[in-house]
Amino acid sequence: MPNDETTVMINPSFHLQAGCHERDDPAYKAYRARWHKNPANNVVERFPVHLDIETTSACNLRCPMCFQAQADTRPDYGFMRWDLFTRLIDEGSEKGLASIKLQYRGEPLLSDNLEEMVAYAKQKGVIEVMFNTNATLLDSKRARALIDAGLDKIICSVDGHTPEVYNPIRVFPKRPGDFDLVLRNIQGLRRLREELGSAHPLIRVQMVDMPENHAYVQEYTDFWMQNGADAVAIEEKLDYFGEFVSLSLSRAEADRAIYPEFQCEQPWQRLFVLWNGKVTMCCGDHYHRLPLGQLFMPDEQEELTAQLAHARTRGAAETRDGLLEVTPATRMREVRKLVGRLDSHDELSLVGVRDEYDNLVQARATIEEIWSGETLQRVRHAHRGGRSHEISVCASCSLRDAAHRNYNKQNGNPDDATQKVPA
Ligand code: SF4
Repeated sequence: MPNDETTVMINPSFHLQAGCHERDDPAYKAYRARWHKNPANNVVERFPVHLDIETTSACNLRCPMCFQAQADTRPDYGFMRWDLFTRLIDEGSEKGLASIKLQYRGEPLLSDNLEEMVAYAKQKGVIEVMFNTNATLLDSKRARALIDAGLDKIICSVDGHTPEVYNPIRVFPKRPGDFDLVLRNIQGLRRLREELGSAHPLIRVQMVDMPENHAYVQEYTDFWMQNGADAVAIEEKLDYFGEFVSLSLSRAEADRAIYPEFQCEQPWQRLFVLWNGKVTMCCGDHYHRLPLGQLFMPDEQEELTAQLAHARTRGAAETRDGLLEVTPATRMREVRKLVGRLDSHDELSLVGVRDEYDNLVQARATIEEIWSGETLQRVRHAHRGGRSHEISVCASCSLRDAAHRNYNKQNGNPDDATQKVPA
C-alpha cells in the first residue's frame, strides 16, 4: 500500500564528505538506478539487487563502539564455506544480482580465499564487488591479489587522521591500534593501483563520528584525500548498546515511537547472508532477531537428515499457526506431513520443537524464496504504511533512530517529536 506521506530513507547515517565513490559506466548506472528507485516505487524484483555476504564473523580488532568488543554479544565465529559462496553467486548471477559486499560483522581479510571470492563473482558478471575492512591486514601481497582479482571498491574504516586520535579507537584485543600500519597499507594500495594502471579498486576511507574524533572531520577529510582515498565519508555512530537514542528519548520510548514518515529502503534492496548460511534482512539486525531462513548446503545433507530424524522423535503438539504462517505453502504441507508422524507424548519444550521445525523447513530455502517470502512481505507492507514500529527489530533499530533524529532536525521539530504507541 503506497503511502504518499512516506519518505524513503536512503541510509540516513551515511554522509559523503569529499571525492566520488560512484562509477560512470552504463551497467553501473543502471544497477544504481534499481538500487535507488526500487524502494521508492515499491518494486520487489525476483532477486535482491545486492547481497551482503559475511565471509567471516571474526574480527582481529576490538573497537569499543562495535559489538565485537562486547563478550556477551559477539557473534558465533566462523568462515563461509566455498560451496555456499559459489551457490549464492551462481543463483544470483542467473537472477539479476548486481552487487555484493563481502563483509557484514567481521574482518574479511581474515578469510584466506577472499581474493578467489572476488574473482569468482567478477567472472560471473557481478557489476560491483566490494568490502569494508579495517585495513590492518591489507599488505602489498593482498593488495596486489585484490587488484588482480578485479575488486571494484574497498571501504577502509579508519577513525582518525593521526595516531593520537586513531590508536585508542581502532584497538587490537590487547594493544592500541596502529595508525602507521593502516596509513602505509592504504597508501601502498593506491600506489600499486597506479603502478599497474588499474582503474580499480576505488578507495573510500570513512570514520564513525564519535566524540573522540568529531572535532576533526574537516582535517580528517583533507588528510585522507591527500593520502590514498578517492572518497571520504563519515557514518553516524549506531546504538548497538542502547546507550543513546536521541537527546531526549529513552530506549523504551523510542521502541514505541510511531514514525509514519519513515520507510527503510533495505527490504527492497538487499539481503544479508551470514557465514553459516543464515539469512537476515538488513544491517540493522546484527543479532539475527528476525531470521528469514537457513540456506541449504549440499554436503550438510547428512546433518539435515539427522535433524529430521531427531525431530521425528519429539513432541508433536506444536502445530500452531504461528509456526506455519511464516513459511511458504509448499513447506507448510511438508511440515504438516511431518507433524502427523510425530509422537505426541514428548515432554520437550514447544518452543524448542518449533525452532527445530522452523530450521527444518527453512533449510531448503533459496534466496529467491526468502526474498519473496511472507516474512519480508509483511515487513515491506508495514514500512509502506508508515508502521515500521510494528516490526520489533525495526522498532529498536538504530538506523530508524538516526532517521528520526535527522527528520526532526530538518523540519525544525523538537528531538522527541513523535507519536508513541501506548505502553
Ligand atoms: S531493522 Fe528495519 S529499519 Fe532497521 S535497517 Fe532493518 S529493515 Fe531497516
